Amino acid sequence: MRLALVTDIHANLEALSAVLDDVEAEGVDRIVVLGDIVGYGADPGPCVEAVADLVDKGAVALLGNHDQAAFLGPKGMSETAATAIRWTIPKLGDDHIRFLKSLPLAHHEGDALFVHASAHHPESWPYVMEASDAAASFASTDARVIVSGHTHVPALFHTIAGALSTGKMLSFRPVADKAVPLSPIRRYHAVIGAVGQPRDGDSRACWGLYDLDGNEITWRRVPYDVEAAARKIEHSGLPERLAARLFTGR
Ligand code: ZN
Repeated sequence: MRLALVTDIHANLEALSAVLDDVEAEGVDRIVVLGDIVGYGADPGPCVEAVADLVDKGAVALLGNHDQAAFLGPKGMSETAATAIRWTIPKLGDDHIRFLKSLPLAHHEGDALFVHASAHHPESWPYVMEASDAAASFASTDARVIVSGHTHVPALFHTIAGALSTGKMLSFRPVADKAVPLSPIRRYHAVIGAVGQPRDGDSRACWGLYDLDGNEITWRRVPYDVEAAARKIEHSGLPERLAARLFTGR
């Protein structure tokens, strides 16, 4: 079973299209969308429709905090994120909102758990940036492998599984397009980078290729038409900074 892990699309249709082309060329068994379909970018409606279409064809899609804010309002968000959500809400129709409201917080497959943010209180959207964040996530589930998005920064945290565990957490910064083997005696928290708004200094869209039988994950990077996505943001009335950051991946 090979899964495509797609997260933090953030209404960037150009990035999503490039990623889906790459996923199709790779030929996976299922797509798992880890949330944040909307927010920040200029194409929320078309991106929701594209994901709904994937779900119709057998994909799994999860709720992200920006998706939730599209129907609950931007409580507790940063000023830029809140501004983008206030811009997004009137762009969405009843069908888009109904789809976003239908999304679950988590998905299990084999010994893996998929969430937008963390296994630790996924509904509160904690960030898994450091070893202590990953430890809290591991403590909240028996799943051997946890897969999330949310930070927009690719990362892999791991620790020894079961009774042998000393609690020592190691972290690893994945290299683009290089498969990372997963040991059966370790637990992993894999943070997949963003499709539509990378923040690790690489402007290319990111998606994850998870081979459950081969026990490896590859963080794929795909170039896309950043110029076109940025121009749409500039012409939309969204904060200009949201266009500029796409070029630097910050
Ligand atoms: Zn996000």
